[in-house]
Amino acid sequence: MNQTKYIFVTGGVTSSLGKGIIAASLAKLLQARGYRTTIQKFDPYLNVDPGTLNPYEHGECYVTDDGAETDLDLGHYERFLDVPTSQANNVTTGRIYLSVIEKERRGEFLGKTVQVVPHITNEIKDRMQLLGKSGDYDIIITEIGGTVGDIESLPYIESVRQLVWDLGENNAIVIHLTLVPYLAAAGELKTKPTQHSVKTLMESGIKADILVCRTEHEISNDIRNKLALFCNVKREAVIQSIDASTIYEVPNLMLEEGLDVVALKKLDLPKKAAPDLKHWNTFLKRIKSPKHTVNIGLIGKYVEMQDCYKSILEAFIHSGAANETKVNVISIHSEYIDEECVAEKFKDLDAVLVAPGFGERGIEGKIAAVRYARENKLPFFGICLGMQMSVIEYSRNVLGLAEANSTEMNPETQNPVVNLMESQKTVTDKGGTMRLGAWKCEIKPDTLAYKIYGQTTISERHRHRYEYNNEYLDALQNAGLKASGVNPDTGLVEIVEIEDHPFFIGVQYHPEYKSTVVNPHPLFVNFVAAAVKSKKK
Ligand code: GLN
Repeated sequence: MNQTKYIFVTGGVTSSLGKGIIAASLAKLLQARGYRTTIQKFDPYLNVDPGTLNPYEHGECYVTDDGAETDLDLGHYERFLDVPTSQANNVTTGRIYLSVIEKERRGEFLGKTVQVVPHITNEIKDRMQLLGKSGDYDIIITEIGGTVGDIESLPYIESVRQLVWDLGENNAIVIHLTLVPYLAAAGELKTKPTQHSVKTLMESGIKADILVCRTEHEISNDIRNKLALFCNVKREAVIQSIDASTIYEVPNLMLEEGLDVVALKKLDLPKKAAPDLKHWNTFLKRIKSPKHTVNIGLIGKYVEMQDCYKSILEAFIHSGAANETKVNVISIHSEYIDEECVAEKFKDLDAVLVAPGFGERGIEGKIAAVRYARENKLPFFGICLGMQMSVIEYSRNVLGLAEANSTEMNPETQNPVVNLMESQKTVTDKGGTMRLGAWKCEIKPDTLAYKIYGQTTISERHRHRYEYNNEYLDALQNAGLKASGVNPDTGLVEIVEIEDHPFFIGVQYHPEYKSTVVNPHPLFVNFVAAAVKSKKK
């Protein structure tokens, strides 16, 4: 197949309808039919990437192997497809404008007046086709962030219109995701918001080929007919997307509704084999009928907002299924933990995960959490800042360095056991300048890390500026906190662990980014297994 085909997914009526999940589910089905599929997201905000956004604004910042800081939907794409994404899979308006303005400064437009149309739209179109031109994919699904009708989405919508025209019928289609609300007082599902949203799309010159209708209730045949007639789509192209108990059920729901088949027909592609979802369905069955239940404390400072720890929560679902275990994640705000209350707060926990984070707020609570887990032999897993807190805790309470701290929290500390990385010392800009993306780590034999990974060289994704201070390496190792994984080129300690403990491990990287349905991350799988064991005891 040489012509790459394009599917654009727009959203109408309201935000948060789950475009990312619909895009990922469709991609899953196409992949399971044998099509090489990837998904990209175009976001309408002016930040060049979400790396500088507070997690309360936009949820977790996801990181790819090539070090892109991206929207959290890319996490869903990877978790569903088990195919890595990259810098090219997430583009923001900020990045588009930056690139056009840089070209203008270099004089590349040869004296032309630089305008939204055609310069911004051409830049968008080029980037929309970038992955398609690689020859690696048969189908590219492009999710357009925001809601149709927003001022800031207009250049994207115009670019989609032009691309559908450029590429021609059967090579590019538009799926519009919309809401069919239920009015309890009238006892009815309402189609008008969808009609208006499709009309708004039409005003921009785009005709939706497929409607995916989010709903809390079954959509009757009458309503499907009405939607088809008034929104100008084929009857078979009205797809119901009813609320599901888990996002992982959505591919099956879309399969039942025939979303993949309608899309392939519109793209003039053969159905090929029926989608092979055997592995997926085994996973689903395991989520739905677990044999065990464990309570795992998630100690962080963004716990009020679920999306801030999205990849960690999803990794618990994958690893829970691998252990036939339901993981109840108990979110505990680190600002409200101290040495006095920690025992009470943790009394029902079977394991503790100390989350990543930035800045001083809530860190003493994280340190108290590590201490409790270490002393009470509760399985402990520290990620990034969580690992750094375990180094501080050990330095303070075992080595006796009461002042030990990270220079991120106290630049004047007498014992900077966690320190700004050398390469960061000259960095002044905040955007895209952390230690990002995949780095190698060598694992020492005879360690818990080796037992878990079963190999000596691993690659994991990073996002941090501070590091374990190797000046304290000997003292910490002699006192029992082993550096079991180290970056082979820089000597940077990536994994710490304690021997005399059922499960105590801290990692400088973010394993949660690489956990997928097909490949649940081994650290999470073993951590959940340790929680099950700890509960039995
Ligand atoms: N704030 C810490 C650092 O920059 C940890 C970052 C994180 O948890 N992602 O090193």
